[in-house]
Amino acid sequence: MTDLIVIGGGASGFFTAIHYAYNNPNASIHILEKSDEILSKVKISGGGRCNVTHACFDRSELLRYYPRGAKFLKGPFFSFFTEDTMEWFESRGVPLKIESDNRVFPVSDSSQSIIDCLIHEAKTHNIIIQTGVGITSIQKESDTFSLQTDTGDTLYAKRVCLATGSSRKGHQLAESLGHSIVKPIPSLFTVKIKDPSLHELKGLSVPNVSAWVEGKKKQLQSGPLLVTHWGLSGPSIIKLSAWQAEPFHQANYALTINVDLLPDMSHNQTESCLTHFAKQSPKKQCIGSSLFPEIPQRFWNYLIEKSPIPKLATWGELAPKSIQNLSNFLKQVPFNVTGKSPFKDEFVTCGGVECSEISSKTMESTICPRFYVVGEALNIDGVTGGFNFQNAWTTGYLASTLH
Ligand SMILES: Cc1cc2nc3c(=O)[nH]c(=O)nc-3n(C[C@H](O)[C@H](O)[C@H](O)COP(=O)(O)OP(=O)(O)OC[C@H]3O[C@@H](n4cnc5c(N)ncnc54)[C@H](O)[C@@H]3O)c2cc1C
Repeated sequence: MTDLIVIGGGASGFFTAIHYAYNNPNASIHILEKSDEILSKVKISGGGRCNVTHACFDRSELLRYYPRGAKFLKGPFFSFFTEDTMEWFESRGVPLKIESDNRVFPVSDSSQSIIDCLIHEAKTHNIIIQTGVGITSIQKESDTFSLQTDTGDTLYAKRVCLATGSSRKGHQLAESLGHSIVKPIPSLFTVKIKDPSLHELKGLSVPNVSAWVEGKKKQLQSGPLLVTHWGLSGPSIIKLSAWQAEPFHQANYALTINVDLLPDMSHNQTESCLTHFAKQSPKKQCIGSSLFPEIPQRFWNYLIEKSPIPKLATWGELAPKSIQNLSNFLKQVPFNVTGKSPFKDEFVTCGGVECSEISSKTMESTICPRFYVVGEALNIDGVTGGFNFQNAWTTGYLASTLH
């Protein structure tokens, strides 16, 4: 009979096991990982550098980065927050650095530093880590959990923590104990746009745009825009995919998104700027003369081709109405999305165990005592920037505190 079985050897599973060991030095603790590799997502995270958290030390502000789960995380963040994450790793020999966009990485620029630290801490506290062991079903009889493995064994535990990330199997295990599952759908993806002339511009970027799903202007997302070999990406698009995950999914990833290429200028300012330029350089062709330094020349040419103004006109030939049309167009360029990045290429999945069935103080299920759910297995997801690991650390920490 094990005191605690953690199902899943990812960030949240390790953090739970380690903190449970701190609080219960004599407890027997097992981490069971179905694949051959523990902490595999930590390994590939942040381009191999692992963006461990975000240097935002204001709780209300940090919560704004979670499209789902912000309400639930409000309390937990008072127990274990971003500064605690930083202090935890640094005090265990992993110096961290804050980059200009507030993402936090190990100074080594290698996720292996984070992995080594977690494994060292687990081993020091006699946590048993088993790989190649997947849990296929779980039952609870009186005070004991019995778990069946894909190797044909049955294991017994007093407490079980579900730390299976976005795995469907994990959701099924929770469901079998009576929990509700919010249907998992992709979040944080890039969009496919069928437009060969756009694809030719791959690699070009605009430093700051606002993007929104047609009909949802109030829910726009800002940030850099990147053209890819098959559509659009960059923080503005990826954030949009997270906040609008449901509309995207409902539309089967075929809808229109609009992009404001000049979000720092009003309609009037944009139009005045174009009018002024037309007066100054009437003989110049519209194509080939981007007047906004933030829009690369080749992207500008593409936009003029796509815009409602005559393609080969000079600035002097544009009637005031055409200038107004071009201004409106630059403030709302429509792109017809025809798909998303391949399934499972997205960074996180939204959906998971319904948070209202889990105590935000202890991560213990309110439906099945001594069953805990942490990390991405919960219906919590953040945008990119270290927020998803912060969820894993915070919920993992809390799952170990009250017993
Ligand atoms: C490419 C990529 C880059 C990312 N970069 C970042 C980043 O830089 N910063 C950030 O904050 N977030 C990042 N994320 C998101 C982040 O990695 C996850 O949110 C985080 O790893 C979730 O941790 P977790 O422990 O809840 O789940 P996971 O890390 O997914 O761990 C769950 C584990 O459970 C195991 N498992 C599943 N089912 C079973 C079962 N039945 N029995 C036994 N084991 C099972 C799985 O094999 C897995 O190892 C990235 C994600 C991806 C895909």
